Amino acid sequence: MMSDPSCIFCRIIADQAEASFVYRDETVTAFMDINPINPGHLLVVPNRHASSLGEVNDEVGSHMFVVGRKLALALRRSGLRCDGVNLFVADGAAAGQTVFHSHLHVVPRHAGDGFGFHFPPGYARGASRADLDAVANRVCAVLEEN
Ligand code: AMP
Ligand code: ZN
Repeated sequence: MMSDPSCIFCRIIADQAEASFVYRDETVTAFMDINPINPGHLLVVPNRHASSLGEVNDEVGSHMFVVGRKLALALRRSGLRCDGVNLFVADGAAAGQTVFHSHLHVVPRHAGDGFGFHFPPGYARGASRADLDAVANRVCAVLEEN
């Protein structure tokens, strides 16, 4: 599907809903998040509807990060408060995805801004090499199928 009329990001890309745009090319569009974590919080969105990363091809996926990197560097030079940047994708509801048109968040950060990742109890205990190797093997087995 090129465009989904029920998708807010498709409507923004088609200029049927308002947004504050910062970048657009033939593959992706970037605009301000309506509910910014910090001023300057941007979204990089494929122009073609793709509900998840699995529907984004290599060319589009890599271009999202190319543009995200460019925007991260621009934020640092913009005069906005930006001592660091988080780039992240929420892929799937369990990962926090709420808009099902895949997108890359570009979030300017500064110390004490109150944003952060919540780690589960026991996180800092680490894992044994045997467990890490077993998990690595499961992922490798899938990669080798392709
Ligand atoms: P996620 O939870 O990763 O799916 O992120 C969706 C993001 O889209 C949230 O940060 C929302 O604030 C943002 N968002 C939702 N609707 C709009 C909109 N109309 N314009 C700009 N950003 C939006
Ligand atoms: Zn869409």
